Amino acid sequence: MLNYILRYFSNDMAIDLGTASTLIFVKGKGIVSNEPSVVAVKKDGKGRRVLAVGKEAKAMLGKTPGNIAAIRPLKDGVIADFEVTEEMLKYFIAKVHNRRHLVRPRIIIGVPSGITPVEMRAVKESAYSAGAGEVYLIEEPMAAAIGAGLPITEPSANMIVDIGGGTSEIAVISLAGIVRAKSLRVGGDKLDDAVVHFVKRKFNLAIGTGVAEQIKITMGLAMGEEEERTMEIKGSNLVTGIPTTIQITGAEVKEAMMEPINALVEAIKQVLETTPPELAADMVDKGIVLAGGGALIKNLDMVLREETKLPVTIAEDPLTCVVRGAGKVLDELRLLRDVTIQN
Ligand code: ADP
Ligand code: MG
Repeated sequence: MLNYILRYFSNDMAIDLGTASTLIFVKGKGIVSNEPSVVAVKKDGKGRRVLAVGKEAKAMLGKTPGNIAAIRPLKDGVIADFEVTEEMLKYFIAKVHNRRHLVRPRIIIGVPSGITPVEMRAVKESAYSAGAGEVYLIEEPMAAAIGAGLPITEPSANMIVDIGGGTSEIAVISLAGIVRAKSLRVGGDKLDDAVVHFVKRKFNLAIGTGVAEQIKITMGLAMGEEEERTMEIKGSNLVTGIPTTIQITGAEVKEAMMEPINALVEAIKQVLETTPPELAADMVDKGIVLAGGGALIKNLDMVLREETKLPVTIAEDPLTCVVRGAGKVLDELRLLRDVTIQN
């Protein structure tokens, strides 16, 4: 009983440790933090020191002098830099967790489905050292499916495609378990890179990934019309070295993004092909649900509908699916037992 009362006052939280953004959901409060997964560190004689985390650090990406580095510690969906990931997680938890609370919070963290046991331990340990009482891990596609409102505990197939920054996670879920899954290193970042390369080839213009991301968000198109729209972009001319402005069209952006989009479509088809027949039958009716920032790419749903002949829907508020799904799991003890990673 006492435990129950204390729990009521605690700050139990769900964290989506994404490759592009980290979001935190607190029970009863909703999403309380949503910042880029970026850390700026300064290197000096004594080692590395954290200068900024989140939005402030993202603004520094590509603009730092030699001794400062803005790092995306989870860039490719694996924890490339343990130390920096830990610092970042601690910073975000501390920002949200009121240390005057008597009870240490329960924290549930969404992690990429391809994460290794060593990485899992590192994530857990950073949460404990940031003040967590209990730490649970949940695979991102599972959390995304729950956040999208899919009936994952039923004996029927639910296909979720969570397109993030560094990775895309494709999963078929039934009876609260992942039946088929694929994690590929193609997501928003690959699209940004594709735009950088295209602009370099076509216009002899060097642009940063931040500019490329803006182009993708405003002009990105997987198929269809609206090709006459244009956008002005600034960069440096590769021949003269001088800052220059050029115009890019919707058709060009579509062409630039084609290769990574095809890779994603192919991976989804492969998962569909290996799905057991009973579950495949369910999919004909229920189709595919898209989540993550990549779900917002214009007409991507249309391409997938055309290529798979299945119904395709975009989850409501796709960027917050994972954290809201993980938050829901905090509230339901049974679900917490069933869907979190046991080790
Ligand atoms: P992660 O889970 O890996 O942190 P997110 O689900 O937050 O990733 O998605 C981030 C990616 O989505 C970034 O590459 C971002 O550029 C992209 N993104 C965000 N909004 C849009 C949009 N409207 N159109 C296309 N891409 C978008
Ligand atoms: Mg994500």
